[in-house]
Amino acid sequence: TTEQAQQQVERLSALGIDVVRVTYPDLLGIDRGRDVLLHHLPAACAHGLAFCRAVYHTTPRGGVVDAPGGLQEGLPDISIRPDLSTLVPIPWEPGVAWCLGDPIDVVTGAPVAESPRDLVRRLAGTLSGSGLTAVVGPELEYFLLEPDPGSALGWRPYQEITGNVYCSGRRGDPDGHLLRSLRHLDQLGIGVISGNQEFDGGQFEINLTHSAALDAADRSWLFKSAVRELARTEGRLATFMAKPLNATGGSGFHLHVSCTDSEDRNAFEDPGQQHGLAVPAQYAIAGLLAHAPAISALLNPTINSYKRFGPDTLAPWLIDWGLDKRSAMLRVPPERGSGTRLELRLGDASANPYLATAGLLAAIHLGIRAAALPPPPFEGYGYDAASAPQLPRTLDAALDALEADTELTELLGKPFTDAYLAYKRDESDRFHRHVTDWEFAEYAQHI
Ligand code: GLU
Ligand code: MG
Ligand code: MG
Repeated sequence: TTEQAQQQVERLSALGIDVVRVTYPDLLGIDRGRDVLLHHLPAACAHGLAFCRAVYHTTPRGGVVDAPGGLQEGLPDISIRPDLSTLVPIPWEPGVAWCLGDPIDVVTGAPVAESPRDLVRRLAGTLSGSGLTAVVGPELEYFLLEPDPGSALGWRPYQEITGNVYCSGRRGDPDGHLLRSLRHLDQLGIGVISGNQEFDGGQFEINLTHSAALDAADRSWLFKSAVRELARTEGRLATFMAKPLNATGGSGFHLHVSCTDSEDRNAFEDPGQQHGLAVPAQYAIAGLLAHAPAISALLNPTINSYKRFGPDTLAPWLIDWGLDKRSAMLRVPPERGSGTRLELRLGDASANPYLATAGLLAAIHLGIRAAALPPPPFEGYGYDAASAPQLPRTLDAALDALEADTELTELLGKPFTDAYLAYKRDESDRFHRHVTDWEFAEYAQHI
C-alpha cells in the first residue's frame, strides 16, 4: 500500500493538490480529522495518524463524556488509517483532497469497537452470511438558513415561502443554491440523482443513487459534510437537525433498501408471493417492525429527533407498514421487478448515516433469522393511533428500548452499545438539567 499511496501522491500532485483532509465519523456522525500534507500521505498510510480517543467521547460543544474505553482508560490513542479508495479532490477547495479514514486500535491493529464505519462493514458481512447483499438508496432532507442577527435563533429560513412550496423549482431557490450544490456533489462522486425544494420554505431534498450499504453510508456522510460546507461558503447554515423550527416540518433520512442474492438478482421480488414481495422481504419487514423502538435510538439519535414524529407530518408516528403509504414508518414503493424495495421512513436527517445504516441492516438480519411474517399492511390513513403501537416519544425511551433489545445489542457488540448509551445518556442528562425558553414562556408569569 505504500506503493499505492506513492501513486496517489503523484496523481494528486499533478492535479495541483498538496493537502489531504483525512476525516472519519465519530459516534454522532460529526466529521473529525486532520489536514495532512500530501507528501506525508504514504507515512500516514503505513503508520496511521494518531488521535486521542476523545474523538469518540466529546460532545459537539466540547465536553468529554465518561464513556467506557475513553476517560476510564486514560483517553488512549487511536490511529486513523486513510482508505485510499475514497480519495477525491474537493471541487470548491483548490489544492485539497478528501479521504475517509478507519480508526484502528494501536495495540491490536483491529478496527476500534466504536467505529461506526466498521459497524456497517461488519453488519453487511453478517447479512451476507444468509446469502444476501443489502442495497441502500439514501434520501436526505435539510433546511438552508440565512443569518438573521435580530432574531432569537440568529437564523431564518433561506426562503420564506408560505403555502405549499413542494417541488416549486427556482421559485423556492432564487439564488441557485440547489444547482450549485448538485454540480459540486456530482464532482465529488457522491452519486446524486436529483434535488428539489421540499415541503417547507428553505427545505431541500437530494436523492442519492443506490449501492452497497457501506458505500451508501460513506456517500451519505460525505453528502452531509459537503452540503454543510457548501452552505458555509455561501454564508448560510445547512442544518440536518430533525426538527429545527417550530413553524415547519422536520427533515427525514429515508432509506430505500433491497437485497440481492448470490446471482445478483433482487431477492425481495417474487411475483408469486403476497404483494409481489419475496419471503426475505416479508421477514425484513417483520424485523424492522419488531426492532423499531430500539433502532430508533440510532436512526433518531437526538433529543430533537422525537419532535419530528407526529400525526399528519409525513414523518412516522406509529410502528406500521403500508403499500405505497407515506404515512407509514415503512413504505413499500409500488415499483416491482428489479426495483422492488422497502423505504424505511423512520430515520431523520440528524442520524449518523453509518449508525442509521447499521440499525437498518441489523433489524433486517434479525427479521430474516426469526423467519416471522409481518401483520397485513395497514389500509387507509396511517396516523390512527388505535391501529398500531407508537414509536418512542423521547430519546430516553429509545435508549431504554435499545438497551432492552438484547438480540440487537449482541449484534451491534457490547463495546459499541455501552459507549453509545453512555454518550447519549450524558446528552439526555445535560438536556434535562437545562431550562428551556418554552418553560419560561409557559410558567414564568402564570403559575
Ligand atoms: N419531511 C418528511 C420527513 O420528515 C418527509 C417528506 C417526504 O415524504 O419527502 O420524513
Ligand atoms: Mg422528501
Ligand atoms: Mg422518501
